[in-house]
Amino acid sequence: MMPRKKPQPLTSINIAGKTYSITYEDEIIESGYLCDGVTCIADATIKIAKGMDAVHTKQILLHEIVHALLNDSGAAYLMKQNIENKEEFEETLVRVLTPVLMEVIKQIGYYYA
Ligand SMILES: [Zn+2]
Repeated sequence: MMPRKKPQPLTSINIAGKTYSITYEDEIIESGYLCDGVTCIADATIKIAKGMDAVHTKQILLHEIVHALLNDSGAAYLMKQNIENKEEFEETLVRVLTPVLMEVIKQIGYYYA
């Protein structure tokens, strides 16, 4: 028998040159709402709720990574200057991009894993 270590949850990730730490929390409350994930740009921290299955955890993590990308690239700032309902717009954009990126990552992973 060859014992194998169970992979540990990812605790940091480099997103476009900036390192974000990832923490796993029992409960995440943001603006009064219970959330599955949240990104703090100022602290370079992504918080992910504990207890979700692997697929959902991956989706939430990617969702938060897209938030980080939009903020660090300045895109979120531009959106906030020019768009009414800016928080909703960013959230919509993240929701549109996340499943597309997940599909792309799956395809790339198949060839380069
Ligand atoms: Zn979001």
